[in-house]
Amino acid sequence: MQRTKRFADVVIVGTGASGLYCALQLPKDRSILMLTKAGVEESDSFLAQGGICVLREEADYDSFFEDTLRAGHYLNNVRSVELMIRSSRQTIRNLLDCGVEFARNGEDFAYTREGAHSRPRILFHQDVTGKEITSKLLASVRALPNVTILEHTRMIDLIARDGRCYGVLTEESECYAADTVLATGGIGGLYENSTNFPHLTGDALAVCLRHGVPLKDVDYIQIHPTTLYSQKPGRRFLISESVRGEGAKLYDGQMQRFVNELLPRDELTKAIRAQMKKEGSKFVWLDMSPVGKSAILDHFPNIYAHCLEEGIDVTRQPIPVVPAQHYFMGGVAVDEYSRTGMAHLYAVGETACNGVHGANRLASNSLLESLVFAGRAASRIALETDFPSKAEYLRLQPQEPEHINRYAGEIREEIERMKKSRE
Ligand SMILES: Cc1cc2nc3c(=O)[nH]c(=O)nc-3n(C[C@H](O)[C@H](O)[C@H](O)COP(=O)(O)OP(=O)(O)OC[C@H]3O[C@@H](n4cnc5c(N)ncnc54)[C@H](O)[C@@H]3O)c2cc1C
Repeated sequence: MQRTKRFADVVIVGTGASGLYCALQLPKDRSILMLTKAGVEESDSFLAQGGICVLREEADYDSFFEDTLRAGHYLNNVRSVELMIRSSRQTIRNLLDCGVEFARNGEDFAYTREGAHSRPRILFHQDVTGKEITSKLLASVRALPNVTILEHTRMIDLIARDGRCYGVLTEESECYAADTVLATGGIGGLYENSTNFPHLTGDALAVCLRHGVPLKDVDYIQIHPTTLYSQKPGRRFLISESVRGEGAKLYDGQMQRFVNELLPRDELTKAIRAQMKKEGSKFVWLDMSPVGKSAILDHFPNIYAHCLEEGIDVTRQPIPVVPAQHYFMGGVAVDEYSRTGMAHLYAVGETACNGVHGANRLASNSLLESLVFAGRAASRIALETDFPSKAEYLRLQPQEPEHINRYAGEIREEIERMKKSRE
């Protein structure tokens, strides 16, 4: 098959928050090619509801650190956690510079709280924080003359030789670059019930598996305890954890409370599933009325409007909720600069695993982690001096990848293999 040949200094696969932030942090004299499998607004980053964590003040450091580790079952990489928390304020300043707005209490920020956080430290923009952040990052990237974005362009393989990455292959083109960044998000598309976009199928994991680039903790998969129950197929609508942080309560079929609503996600999921099994029911109830009508309309207008469309007025009626796949803690193994096991290949965001989340992510740490480590990848790429010539690229002649339709199966097998290896 004859493919168009494209050349750039850096190719970034994925236009979610991590890919966009990486592009913004790279030197402006680098030519950057960004690819996305779908439209630019179809990334999980646009769906984030709850918010983004920040180190409010020095006095909160130990508690933020401990909450992250406790949620992660103490299997976190402590250096990664330290870097994430220490970089959080500068990251938020960078977002503000891009025009991102967070809720305020007068002059100060307003902070909310989610499950497993011992105090409020989450910045938010109503219940559409991801859209606010990602749309502003996208606008900033679009204003850069050195960045080209190709939509509906699917990466199907890496271009690699002798342990070095030289770019990626898409269905239509050979994209050559000195450095390649995988920012392809999570794996929700592999599941029947997930809060993720269905096109997020872990393609970066599949191509890394093919090229022997190490993966890490791929069996660490987070199930969100509260998504809106529906009999219809498709993406599951999330009822953000911050509604429980703000006072919403869970009830069984007899409208009795059965659990502490602020447990870490994995423990709460276990408790809900056990309750559903005991009752033989398909969901439990979540009552948002303790949050209060004006707070619901002010802080959670998106959840309010979506549930109303489904015939539920959350200010006075409970919501049927059920756990669904939500987040991927594992991924392509990376170091503290987001470098993978292949030279000149980086991985950032949900696709990467730097160990920040351990076995279970603390709510609202993922946007922060995505941005911090995308910035660190950019800082490393900025030091790059090894730019292959066009002639060198053209000698590579990448092979047609075989069995692309087996990617999902290969990832599932790897997840099972890792699960078994822990038994
Ligand atoms: C409903 C929901 C609510 C959430 N709420 C929060 C929250 O409140 N706070 C928080 O911190 N986190 C939250 N998260 C998690 C957070 O949104 C994600 O972890 C984060 O946005 C991931 O960003 P990303 O850049 O890694 O990936 P994404 O934003 O998912 O972007 C992935 C990109 O990769 C592209 N792509 C994938 N495969 C290919 C391919 N083969 N070729 C080309 N392009 C490809 C996609 O098209 C997309 O552009 C939430 C997630 C969901 C689903």
